[in-house]
Amino acid sequence: MTVPRKDAGYRPVKERVYDYGEVEQTLDEKDRRLQASRCMDCGIPFCHWGCPVGSKIPEWQDALYRGKKDEAYYILHSTNSFPEITGRICPAPCEKSCVLAIHEESVTIRENECATVEQAFEAGIIKANPPKIRTGKKIAVIGSGPAGLSAADLLNRAGHLVTVFEKNDAIGGLLRYGIPDFKLNKGIIDRRLALFVDEGIIFKTNITVGVDIQKEELLKKYDAVILAVGAEQPRDLPVEGRELDGVYFAMDFLTQQNKLNAGQMIPEENRISAKNKNVLVIGGGDTGSDCVGTSIRQKAKSVTQIEILPKPPEKRIDHNPWPYWPNTLRTSSSHQEGCERRWNLSTKRFIGENGKLKQAEIVQVEWTQGEGGRWNMSEVPGTTEVVDVELALLSMGFTNPVQKGLLDSLGVEYDPRGNVKVNDKKQTSVTKIFAAGDAEKGASLVVHAIEAGKVAAKNVDDFLKGL
Ligand SMILES: Cc1cc2nc3c(=O)[nH]c(=O)nc-3n(C[C@H](O)[C@H](O)[C@H](O)COP(=O)(O)OP(=O)(O)OC[C@H]3O[C@@H](n4cnc5c(N)ncnc54)[C@H](O)[C@@H]3O)c2cc1C
Ligand code: SF4
Repeated sequence: MTVPRKDAGYRPVKERVYDYGEVEQTLDEKDRRLQASRCMDCGIPFCHWGCPVGSKIPEWQDALYRGKKDEAYYILHSTNSFPEITGRICPAPCEKSCVLAIHEESVTIRENECATVEQAFEAGIIKANPPKIRTGKKIAVIGSGPAGLSAADLLNRAGHLVTVFEKNDAIGGLLRYGIPDFKLNKGIIDRRLALFVDEGIIFKTNITVGVDIQKEELLKKYDAVILAVGAEQPRDLPVEGRELDGVYFAMDFLTQQNKLNAGQMIPEENRISAKNKNVLVIGGGDTGSDCVGTSIRQKAKSVTQIEILPKPPEKRIDHNPWPYWPNTLRTSSSHQEGCERRWNLSTKRFIGENGKLKQAEIVQVEWTQGEGGRWNMSEVPGTTEVVDVELALLSMGFTNPVQKGLLDSLGVEYDPRGNVKVNDKKQTSVTKIFAAGDAEKGASLVVHAIEAGKVAAKNVDDFLKGL
């Protein structure tokens, strides 16, 4: 009751837009412990329910407050292989369901999480802990995003020999080549990977399973397979002018910048640059927000982010009560850096000159509820406008995993949305093949991918015991 919520906040805009370093700051240890002390240890900890990995939040808040660094870390790590990552980039549904969120500001759970891991690393508490006994069973994990890594970690700890295959040149999935460095420094991934290597997980990069390794070899060599291939099929915008030079998928743009930050060379002719351009980010979600921050760092002339849906409310509305996730307006650090945000706008066509994007035609839309509660969209007459745009970034989400190639060749069934169909054990329609993360859930969050990896690992372990 006497300690107010204190966020560490972001580095000043005028400093951070000149680099790709993490934007979030940290509190000193005294303040951090005070923040942990704000947890009320509620009889029913809704935060625990709100967290997809079931983090035992009140327990590690108490240990953090009392300065028991090892205990805080062990409790935190017991439900999540990567608290240093969720502590940075999780949207923290736990905080939205914290009891303190009803009347005042919730406990700073996410920041406390990050601090707990960082101080444990600093104190030398986190060390490689290879399994004492090996079971002799071999598992192939395909895809090295948070789902694949979470499953790999737990199965390795259970003594199985795990090989993670990744088609990219580095491990991490979207953590590596998607999420910008200003949200997640890639050294954070490497630090955990070094522990995994010491613990015996085998990583193979630049291997596209389905091309470099065929189904027969995979199923012969491994006792179980986990498909953690993500949902890499981006939603396209098939309007006039889509083919123009200057219209790109967001991921092509974001991946390039992550690669450049990692010191890789991208030939000038292949570079997608926002420098001195009017940038139109199409899609109002997190990927779009990451395009905003990246465009600003590349010195765009202007950045506008448009969304086809209406502007969300600033505060919870009646049928969206606590402790559920609030469907309210979210403003990211990137938005604060200087972008115009607009809603209820649809893109009708791209206009070019000599094959290069010059303008986009957009129109206001309105949403009305029809029969059965279905929402219908219609254009508002007379609201068409043409805006100057030299770079358009399509950030309208992802439809499903890429089916052509590996998934089709394995013969796994799909659900009606085109994701890999799994049962509650994350088992696919093909014996000994499991799936986890965006591949079976559709594009989601890191914390959901980690949880899916956990469920798959538990059920693969049970499956192997039964062999
Ligand atoms: C730009 C962006 C920003 C995001 N920001 C956040 C955020 O701030 N917070 C948050 O919680 N979530 C965020 N997300 C969502 C989050 O990154 C994903 O939900 C999560 O990474 C999914 O994990 P995954 O392991 O299922 O798949 P992915 O991370 O997509 O990993 C799948 C991996 O499989 C590999 N692969 C695919 N096919 C093959 C094959 N045949 N052989 C070998 N390897 C293969 C891919 O190369 C990839 O590395 C963001 C997503 C994007 C696109
Ligand atoms: S993983 Fe996300 S939801 Fe769970 S405790 Fe951490 S910040 Fe909260």
